[in-house]
Amino acid sequence: MRLDRIVLLPGDGIGPEVTEQAKRVLAQVSDKHELGIEFVEELIGGASIDQHGDPLRGEVIELCRESRAVLLGAVGGPKWDDLAVDVRPEKGLLRIRKELGLFANLRPAAVIPALTNASTLRPEIVEGTDLLVVRELTGGIYFGEPRGRGTDDGLRTGFNTMVYDENEVARIGRVAFEQARLRRRHVTHVHKANVLDVSQLWMDVMEEVGKEYSDVELSHQLVDSCAMLLLRDPRRFDVLVTGNLFGDILSDEAAEITGSLGMLPSASLATGGFGLFEPVHGSAPDIAGQDLANPLAAILSVAMLLETSLDCAVGAEEVRAAVASVLAAGHRTGDLVLAGEDRPLTGCQEMGDHVLGAMASA
Ligand code: NAD
Repeated sequence: MRLDRIVLLPGDGIGPEVTEQAKRVLAQVSDKHELGIEFVEELIGGASIDQHGDPLRGEVIELCRESRAVLLGAVGGPKWDDLAVDVRPEKGLLRIRKELGLFANLRPAAVIPALTNASTLRPEIVEGTDLLVVRELTGGIYFGEPRGRGTDDGLRTGFNTMVYDENEVARIGRVAFEQARLRRRHVTHVHKANVLDVSQLWMDVMEEVGKEYSDVELSHQLVDSCAMLLLRDPRRFDVLVTGNLFGDILSDEAAEITGSLGMLPSASLATGGFGLFEPVHGSAPDIAGQDLANPLAAILSVAMLLETSLDCAVGAEEVRAAVASVLAAGHRTGDLVLAGEDRPLTGCQEMGDHVLGAMASA
């Protein structure tokens, strides 16, 4: 594996625009901290379909496998919407996650002080929120067998299986505890153990793994009350860890607390520090190619990459501080401007310039 190689997969729509700014930021951190990063760029999604007739070629997967991390933009767009499901851009995303064994999905939701008003929740509720949802990504009810449709006594049925083994739970549990050590040292395990046997297994295994991390506090929260508490008192949470289904739903709910899709980064991790980092948003075809996209989610994904795959927490903090200071200085892409607000808009490239400038002068 090449520990210094980062694969860039800009993809479609605004993907290339935001990935370009993210790359500039990562290159500047690499220079400052002498990380010696080398970038290799490849195609994914619609761009790859257009050139190769395939949303993700096997050789690109091999290249990723031999690299330290992947920085991805976004895939998809109306141009490819009529293709068969198996050759659509999104298939490239699913394939890369599966082939690279990306079992842990990390979605932070942090409210940046300058953007407290962007949330649909009241400022006094969201102010200071800084939580991380750790979702198991390759198991659970989305993959469990048996699954299918049938008939029972003349009635149509549908069924899925929510199954985890103890190794899968321990593996994601350790990711959550390790992340908590980088933060405020509190893990909340989200479950439905009053109804589901599989959740009872999670309870047992999380308690066992928790003993390896006596410096981190572990608590358990029922998923239904967790969904309410996220809206009532999001500040109480540090790291939430849960299975694929609950994580899918709660990570979107948590994201909404921040109020801005253009600000949300994510990481999907395999064992051994390899990870794929990408903004949560899609390819935004409505604004693609116009220098209107907010690159901050992609730039904040770089911060996650630095911390998680390159062991450069200092660089990660520098990136986050630069983003916060640029916003505090009042720079806003269109998506961050509130209704009724009258202020000049910052373009995608210019936003990247400001972040680079803030890092250089810090
Ligand atoms: P989207 O996230 O692309 O856009 C939703 C809305 O948010 C749009 O109005 C868009 O302009 C705006 N927006 C999104 N990111 C922004 C940014 N960085 N800066 C400013 N505004 C931003 O979701 P969608 O419209 O539902 O999907 C568009 C395409 O993206 C579809 O083809 C979909 O399949 C694909 N998609 C891809 C991913 C991914 O690659 N991970 C995720 C979601 C959707």
